[in-house]
Amino acid sequence: MARRKKIYEGKAKILYEGPEPGTFVQYFKDDATAFNAEKMEVIDGKGVLNNRLSEFFMTGLANIGIPTHFLKRLNMREQLIRSVEIIPLEVIVRNIAAGSMAKRLGMEEGTALPRPIVEFSYKDDKLGDPLVPEEYIIALGWASQQELDDIVALALRVNDFMSGVMYGVGIQLVDFKIEFGRVWEGDFMRLILADEISPDSCRLWDMKSGRKLDKDVFRHDLGDLADAYTEVARRLGVMPTNATHAVKPTLIN
Ligand code: 5GP
Repeated sequence: MARRKKIYEGKAKILYEGPEPGTFVQYFKDDATAFNAEKMEVIDGKGVLNNRLSEFFMTGLANIGIPTHFLKRLNMREQLIRSVEIIPLEVIVRNIAAGSMAKRLGMEEGTALPRPIVEFSYKDDKLGDPLVPEEYIIALGWASQQELDDIVALALRVNDFMSGVMYGVGIQLVDFKIEFGRVWEGDFMRLILADEISPDSCRLWDMKSGRKLDKDVFRHDLGDLADAYTEVARRLGVMPTNATHAVKPTLIN
């Protein structure tokens, strides 16, 4: 059997060459990393959940007119995506102060922001993905002013959609990270949403209890990460059964 060509391996995903030009296969790993991979663990079933959740969000976003790289789910851990020229920016949208923003500004986690804030980090693990102002992005040629304007507009639409969907299932969308890529259609370039949207890249808090249902559970040892992700998937009706924990054999006396 021919082996697939690996294009790229990241901390949580692998990209393989796709079956047709202009496509990749995106494989979701079970590996969880935090603090720039200083903390690492394999979480059984995380890849399966993130594959389904990312499909769910990307499909919903496509339905409201936001172009995404998602083409179709291939199996439990893999999806077919469009290959894009990735823009080396993490686009972060915040509704509530938490994480690095709360720390940087000495704000109390959970403080509601007067309006959603969009910020950019330069994607570079060695540098720890530093926050960068728009001025740097344009001057250093990572994206044009027009692209940044389009990215902000798209990111805010993603935020509205995601906030609404999560609100509907009793979850507050605190913040999230997305990435964009360029695709060329003849002489024309289009921006499309790339990478993934999953509890790995969002902060999700239960509206009643405040329970964290995202990667902070792993970052700060707050419990079972797979249980938290399963709860998100269950509420969204994405995976009604617990897909993460294989049924263990039961001893019958
Ligand atoms: P913060 O800047 O507060 O650490 O993160 C803001 C949001 O972006 C959080 O939802 C966090 O999970 C997400 N985020 C920031 N950096 C990364 C990253 O490198 N990978 C992933 N998957 N998510 C990130």
